[in-house]
Amino acid sequence: MKKVKLNVLALSVIAFLVMITACKQDTLTAPSETQMHQNRLKCNHLKAPESLQTEEGLSLRANQAFVAPIILIPNGSSNLTDYQRQQVELGLENVRDWYQRELPNKDIRWEKIRYLQGNQTGAHYVVNNNVWSEIPGEIQAAFGWNPWQNNSGTNRIALVLGRDLLGWAGANTSANGNGLAIAGLESLIDLPQVSNEWWGTQEYWHGTVIHELGHALGLPGHHGIASSIMDAHGNYKNKHLTNKEKTIVEGNLATTTKGPVPIAHWDFDEDFKDQGNGNNDLTAKKGATQATGLIELAGSFDGVNDVAETASNRCNVSNKVTISAWVKPSSTSGSQTIVNKWYAKDSYSLGIKNGQFVFSVAFPGGTWGTAKSISIPAKANEWQHVIGVYDGEDDNTLTIYLDNITKPGSQSRQKIVQGGNLQSSTRPVAVGSHPSWNSFKGLIDKITIYNDEVSISQLSF
Ligand SMILES: [Zn+2]
Repeated sequence: MKKVKLNVLALSVIAFLVMITACKQDTLTAPSETQMHQNRLKCNHLKAPESLQTEEGLSLRANQAFVAPIILIPNGSSNLTDYQRQQVELGLENVRDWYQRELPNKDIRWEKIRYLQGNQTGAHYVVNNNVWSEIPGEIQAAFGWNPWQNNSGTNRIALVLGRDLLGWAGANTSANGNGLAIAGLESLIDLPQVSNEWWGTQEYWHGTVIHELGHALGLPGHHGIASSIMDAHGNYKNKHLTNKEKTIVEGNLATTTKGPVPIAHWDFDEDFKDQGNGNNDLTAKKGATQATGLIELAGSFDGVNDVAETASNRCNVSNKVTISAWVKPSSTSGSQTIVNKWYAKDSYSLGIKNGQFVFSVAFPGGTWGTAKSISIPAKANEWQHVIGVYDGEDDNTLTIYLDNITKPGSQSRQKIVQGGNLQSSTRPVAVGSHPSWNSFKGLIDKITIYNDEVSISQLSF
């Protein structure tokens, strides 16, 4: 099985070299980053259909566009497990986070993940770059729109993530918010299969998808500006868009007004620092550490006293708050803190209590505050994405969402009489424990806090 797939890769590399003479051949052993890019990529930049390049095409200009992630399961390829689907969701969240970080004025509009059952095998798609000639028609047949056609005022950039495409990646764009970007999935979801490949890491997958999506959003690349993700794939965390590239992406119809900006974001990949605005770093205490997470690393907590805390009096909110976290608890019994600003005085909390995820907010009053909570069933030893939202301005609701992609409708919402500002608290924000009898045992990843009400579509695919 493995040998066959490696042969497919070899064929696709050969096809690439035949077709793209501009990219010179480099060895596959110990390449430099730029060399990796040239080997890995089939950045063909095929021209868009003529109709989209003409004045007539522009007269049909769409009103808006979206990036539409599509998971392609080629004929004969195995479907994704729930765990792999979660990895794709979180992987795409990382891609979205990167673009939100880079774009000061706009956010990309994302659609929910779609699944496409391919007509051809993975090997067939990548040989001779058949992806370009065949996938647009398959998208048209399955979903009723085509990444190269004007579609009733709404166009789409298809971001196709293909099973068994292995190291294949490429992208094309046209005016009018159309485009097609394609990348293999194995370096995100099946690391053992590709562990011997220089591109076989999750980090490289992220850099690749960010790069190819950049092409599909209209960016030229391979320009020698080393700080730009469009020059090469790897090390996406330390790569950026140039000012010119930002302007091009922000001018694409697939972007929209900037959404809420997190007041804190901890991904636990490198350390416990705030990857949001950088003002709310956590300090790991009492043995809190990192371990392998859904994507790269996660925070690991022992259920005894491990905790990570900000400085005092951080992450204050007023009449809206949204907290998102990915967690894998070892058990769901007792009381366990995921993240909170709670106890002397209470303000907000996301945790586990007696088999439920519980999102709580506190209003001024009493010794600690007056708490309101909402809950939804939790599972042990599985990764779950839990999101709590308090809106005390528009409709006074408390909502908790769970795994909203793989299980649509997993949410619980209640209207609460009281609205307005939550109780302010000088407490640090604590992750994994506080107080000690509320210690969490397991893994916590990718916590994001907004002092705003964030729509679920902005948080998940
Ligand atoms: Zn490229």
